[in-house]
Amino acid sequence: MQEKPYFCPNCRSNRVKFSVISSISQPFLKDAVTGALTEVGEQEPLTDTEPTIQCLVCSFSANELRFIKQAEREPRAGQPLPPSYQ
Ligand SMILES: [Zn+2]
Repeated sequence: MQEKPYFCPNCRSNRVKFSVISSISQPFLKDAVTGALTEVGEQEPLTDTEPTIQCLVCSFSANELRFIKQAEREPRAGQPLPPSYQ
């Protein structure tokens, strides 16, 4: 994951609450007749794929870049100026 601001392109109200959905690979063998699992291998995380990010406000999910691009298009307005600068 990149340390960049995210902005949900769907609800356009969330820059804070997200979930990362990671993929795992797990080999298994099935019985060809009954469909039952006969052997289950070790889980392996798939780390080379771009992470999928889910917005926890509207449940929209997409790859990380869409959230980053949306934040770049609509950057958050800066902090209000302290009173001494007004
Ligand atoms: Zn959203």
